[in-house]
Amino acid sequence: MSALMNTYARLPVAFVRGEGAQLFDAEGRAWLDALSGIAVCNLGHAHPALQDALCDQAGTLWHTSNLYRIPLQEQLGERLCQLSDMDRVFFCNSGAEANETAIKLARRWGHQRGVDTPTIVVMENSFHGRTLAALSATGNPKAQQGFGPLVEGFIRVPYDDLDAIDALSSDPNIVAVLVEPVQGEGGVQIPDEDYLPGLRELCDLNGWLLMVDEVQTGMGRTGELFAFEHSDIQPDVMTLAKALGNGMPIGACLARGKAAEVLVPGSHGTTFGGNPLACRVGLAVVEEMVGQHWPRRVAEMGGRLLDAFRDRLEGHPAVRDIRGRGLMIGIELDRPCGELVGRALEEKRLLINVTRDTVVRLLPPFVMTASQQQQMVDAVCDLIESFTA
Ligand SMILES: *Cc1c(COP(=O)(O)O)cnc(C)c1O
Repeated sequence: MSALMNTYARLPVAFVRGEGAQLFDAEGRAWLDALSGIAVCNLGHAHPALQDALCDQAGTLWHTSNLYRIPLQEQLGERLCQLSDMDRVFFCNSGAEANETAIKLARRWGHQRGVDTPTIVVMENSFHGRTLAALSATGNPKAQQGFGPLVEGFIRVPYDDLDAIDALSSDPNIVAVLVEPVQGEGGVQIPDEDYLPGLRELCDLNGWLLMVDEVQTGMGRTGELFAFEHSDIQPDVMTLAKALGNGMPIGACLARGKAAEVLVPGSHGTTFGGNPLACRVGLAVVEEMVGQHWPRRVAEMGGRLLDAFRDRLEGHPAVRDIRGRGLMIGIELDRPCGELVGRALEEKRLLINVTRDTVVRLLPPFVMTASQQQQMVDAVCDLIESFTA
């Protein structure tokens, strides 16, 4: 029926056009997007400034090679380092690749310190991507099933559990901790406010790199440009992708201090990574994000939406928890609710997601208007109430 490998159980709809928080099919019917292509189109669809940047660059230069200097890549790198207080960046094409870079960086950093079998601490319930090393770091047995042997060199501990990591302090093979500041695929899990500062302290004590996977939380999604900023700490390594290009494929691994000097000519590379086309769009995304103060607006908008959901659903017997940070919102039910995705699509013309079987996840674009936000809240609450009635 389809020439495509059967990797996705796709919903029966195809969009041909987008505008802000709306998507349209070929018949011109509109859907409200409360998912942003999974935290990618943070600035909405067909954003004029991004379109202008892309079209202008498309008529100028797409690709040269990392064999040559790429001024747009240097500019984007400098801007990201300035904004995150990191020192250097490696550009690639996806979140998984950004994490592969971080994993390779940590291993090489270990070898440089005489650790022959470097090990990275990773979390239960985590998601880091689908390439083999990123999948091995991922804490989801279902995603790993059938792909063994996995890459070795990872130790897994529960998320949001500092004692579990402290207990590893005597292990001389550990070189780094890889963690999501908020677990996205894992069900919008927000750790205790002491967690990241505690991790920073343990990493400092033990000489480990603190590596934050901000592929989903980065670029304003949580109400800061980068989610680690909520905790007033500085990571040694940070990975970005998803919203960095607002749909143009681009990923990045940023590093600081000694970690920024680990990769040298010959030790890592990419054909497409950081090409002029992607970096031009990335620059436009960053300028729009910072220039229009989107992170602050996201924090306000997220707070109001959380209040609205709590007003309507708090105390509902089937609703276990309503949580969020910025525009990363999870509504956890007491039962599997995957079918809400299809119902939202058909009955409400609304795009939502369900993770971990029981968590309705909303990742709306930042440009969603007030009336669209109200429409989203009403539709989601209606759906949950009728589904659990
Ligand atoms: C989406 C995601 C990834 C993987 O990104 P891809 O671009 O799909 O490879 C990695 N880490 C986190 C936290 C993500 O949300």
